[in-house]
Amino acid sequence: MFVCEETYDVIVIGGGHAGCEAALASAKMGAKTLLLTQNLDTIAQMSCNPSIGGIAKGQIVREIDALGGAMGKITDYSALHYHMLNTGKGPAVHSPRVQCDKKIYQFTFKHTLEKQPNLDIIQDEAVKISTSDNRVDGVLSIRNTFYPAKNVILTSGTFLAGSIHIGTEMFRGGRYNDMPSDLLAKNLRDDLKLNMMRFKTGTPMRINARYLDFSQFRLQPSDNPLQAISHFTDEKEQAKRTFGCCYVTRTTLATDKILRENFQRSAMYSGNIHSIGPRYCPSVEDKIKKFPEVTSHPLFLEPEGFYTEEFYIQGFSTSMPEDVQRALIASVPGMEKATITRLGYAVEYDFSDPKDLYPTLESKKIPHLFLAGQVNGTTGYEEAGGQGLIAGINAALKTQEKEPFVLRRDEAYIGVLIDDLVNKGVNEPYRMFTSRAEYRILLRNDNADLRLVPHGLKLGLIDERYRAPFEAYRDVCAQLIENPTKEPSVKDDLSVWSVEKAKRHAEIHKKYEGYYERNLKDAEKLAAMDAVKIPQGFDPSAVRGLLFESAQKLKEVRPQTLGQASRIPGVTPSDIQLLAVHIERFRRLKNAR
Ligand SMILES: Cc1cc2nc3c(=O)[nH]c(=O)nc-3n(C[C@H](O)[C@H](O)[C@H](O)COP(=O)(O)OP(=O)(O)OC[C@H]3O[C@@H](n4cnc5c(N)ncnc54)[C@H](O)[C@@H]3O)c2cc1C
Repeated sequence: MFVCEETYDVIVIGGGHAGCEAALASAKMGAKTLLLTQNLDTIAQMSCNPSIGGIAKGQIVREIDALGGAMGKITDYSALHYHMLNTGKGPAVHSPRVQCDKKIYQFTFKHTLEKQPNLDIIQDEAVKISTSDNRVDGVLSIRNTFYPAKNVILTSGTFLAGSIHIGTEMFRGGRYNDMPSDLLAKNLRDDLKLNMMRFKTGTPMRINARYLDFSQFRLQPSDNPLQAISHFTDEKEQAKRTFGCCYVTRTTLATDKILRENFQRSAMYSGNIHSIGPRYCPSVEDKIKKFPEVTSHPLFLEPEGFYTEEFYIQGFSTSMPEDVQRALIASVPGMEKATITRLGYAVEYDFSDPKDLYPTLESKKIPHLFLAGQVNGTTGYEEAGGQGLIAGINAALKTQEKEPFVLRRDEAYIGVLIDDLVNKGVNEPYRMFTSRAEYRILLRNDNADLRLVPHGLKLGLIDERYRAPFEAYRDVCAQLIENPTKEPSVKDDLSVWSVEKAKRHAEIHKKYEGYYERNLKDAEKLAAMDAVKIPQGFDPSAVRGLLFESAQKLKEVRPQTLGQASRIPGVTPSDIQLLAVHIERFRRLKNAR
């Protein structure tokens, strides 16, 4: 065995969307970091559609960006089509979505990581997370190299014991053409005794656009004017760039007939796949099965890049065999002559129960092990990126023996996401929606910077040169909210911010002012409950009057605050009242002793 000389503060396993944000954040915060990933050429690969953002996901990207993460900036850099979603609803839930050039996105992320001081990147596969004295001490790789580490962040995505399905055909893989991570899956289950479960997801076929008859589709041009997804992108400069087009069409009665005749040949319905997939990204065969009365479904044709003719067909996710996939394509007017470049498929993989995590994403079972991304039962690049960022921040803070960083539900969608995961767990792949956020009037796309840039600056994730411009911008926003008709005075250079942006924000804020104040009051109560820490060693079963079931749930989740306890399903408001009294009594007794 070769032992690496360096003891890393943080090792990140996996260079997907969670791993990239985790490694970058940890290194930026001064922790000596190593990113270990199976293949350097697939860093930040978009396994499914080549787009970032979407309903509620767009808000997450804005939040990652406002905290100093990279996803938003790289999305703008590689953008080939902008589309603001939900514009038929109020601006509180407007969600940006950006089609990207898949390869430019990947290579830009790889280059960003390569340039980052404190960060090493090595192409290798982790097969064992090593522990001693019940804490992590390093990672063993398939090459038999041991990398010593103080903290490990696992972000292995869909790769743990991954298997791919196309019709009745099944083969091993984390993604099509990528090796599964089998030895590590065994190590997590058998040695570390993590509570592993299994989910599935799927992707549509890709086609060559050369023979498409575009006259048959509805054109969906890029938004003009556009709204950049990153707060740090100069929108005027961005608008000068050339963008591509997406197209919209629908499945036909012929598509419907093919699907109905071949149900039993789909991996989903032939009995080959047993695990649950994302309800909100169903396969096309799923749609026909679940909504039999609907005979036509929308399809979105999205280019995969500036320098390729490959198109992704959103809405056509399938695990049908190859001949059926070919017939499905030919059943759509305008696509009759298209050739499939890559088949659609489903993938089944292991994930770890997120209820075993603290809100910092550190494992309750193995100290100094953090988990982020799809491995926690979520789905989506944005959900993965948000978790990666939080895990990276907390692993770095842990090495520096500093207070952990946790976002509350009223501060960010990322806070809602992690709070839901650790308290409620998952019984299907978790995707973010605006409806999951009870304080969504506070968590808007237009105010993500006002909410989170102060955290990004404090953590050292945002360059200090932005501090004065941000403060000046915040001041302009406050002036405009106070007096919308008066031209604001600008104290400093606004850099990437502008008076126009502030006007946009103030206008939306005014529209929601009443709701905003109400949400803020509710959020204050939540913050007060979250400030009540549950002392270590507190035993819920010692609380007289607490239901046995409630005590069991509290023991299982081990909440760190009274607020967190209140959000565990099945724990009632009267349980919380009892707990509050007993926590206070427990603390007084402990202090007296
Ligand atoms: C077929 C398919 C279809 C999907 N469809 C959708 C969809 O419709 N909607 C949606 O929102 N999301 C979809 N996704 C999910 C989306 O791709 C993920 O949510 C997202 O990529 C998760 O990011 P991640 O960083 O957690 O993991 P990933 O992006 O999967 O990255 C994991 C990384 O870890 C590396 N790795 C794994 N094991 C090891 C190891 N032992 N050692 C070193 N490196 C390792 C891998 O090589 C990879 O780079 C789909 C994914 C797949 C594969």
